[in-house]
Amino acid sequence: MDPERETSRVPRHRSTATAWRVARGILMACVAAVVAVVVSGFLHGDPRITSLFPGINLPGEPQNGQSQAQPARALDAPPPGHEEADAPLASPPAPAVTNDSYKFLATNDDGTPVGYSPCRPLHYVVNNASAPVGSDELLATAIANVSAASGIQFVNDGTTDELPVERREPYQPSKYGERWAPLLISWTTPEAAPALADKVIGTGGSTMYSLNKGPKSYITGSLELDTPQVSELLADPEGADYVLAVMQHELGHVMGLDHVEDPVQLMYPEIGAPDGLAAGDLTGLHLLSSAPCRKDI
Ligand SMILES: [Zn+2]
Repeated sequence: MDPERETSRVPRHRSTATAWRVARGILMACVAAVVAVVVSGFLHGDPRITSLFPGINLPGEPQNGQSQAQPARALDAPPPGHEEADAPLASPPAPAVTNDSYKFLATNDDGTPVGYSPCRPLHYVVNNASAPVGSDELLATAIANVSAASGIQFVNDGTTDELPVERREPYQPSKYGERWAPLLISWTTPEAAPALADKVIGTGGSTMYSLNKGPKSYITGSLELDTPQVSELLADPEGADYVLAVMQHELGHVMGLDHVEDPVQLMYPEIGAPDGLAAGDLTGLHLLSSAPCRKDI
């Protein structure tokens, strides 16, 4: 059952933090992060290295004189195809108005965007130890909106005590079982998550995975929200709309959207009004709904 494969890892890289301006002179910013995990056998990547490594055999493999050309399943990956259905779980309708103001964080060699498999649910957990009062409903709304546009079916696995880290392990069987770790949504602080320093109010991104340099797919992600800044926003009578915008913007990054230069879009790095997902955002999310199913990962 274990497929023969090799692993290596391309570490996280982060885009330059960009100021995200909203009303009342409040500056917010977010950082998109993509973590690439590419199958090879090399399990110790320096987070600053951006090139791929040639595959090597995993410790303890091969066994019993088995050919070195057939390494065992990667030690840091779950059995493939967990919860993967034969067809996408949803068929989101195309946006009423299409718009080309969207950009993807990563594409495959054939130009298709890297996204999550639409044929399995995306589980998520929330570290809500410091979540502001009233933020639960906003997060649920943000997830519902992004799910409706992307077709990705989110499953709430409840709360977690997992803390955000610079380079998160995408497979944590002792904590989450033999599956890819769920998307981690963290309410946190700049002290605990340095990427939230200065005006950055949220960060988000996902981990890419591919087999033998084949097409890439996201397998998990993380999203961090700055509790002190969000709490300050929520104290404003109109702040909830901006917080919802922040959440949807970061979820857009998790799904695979990058910043765009069109100020109308929610993925624009400087937002003047919390109008929610616009035509370009919706078009990009809809295109991500066509990502291939992946029983192989
Ligand atoms: Zn952003």
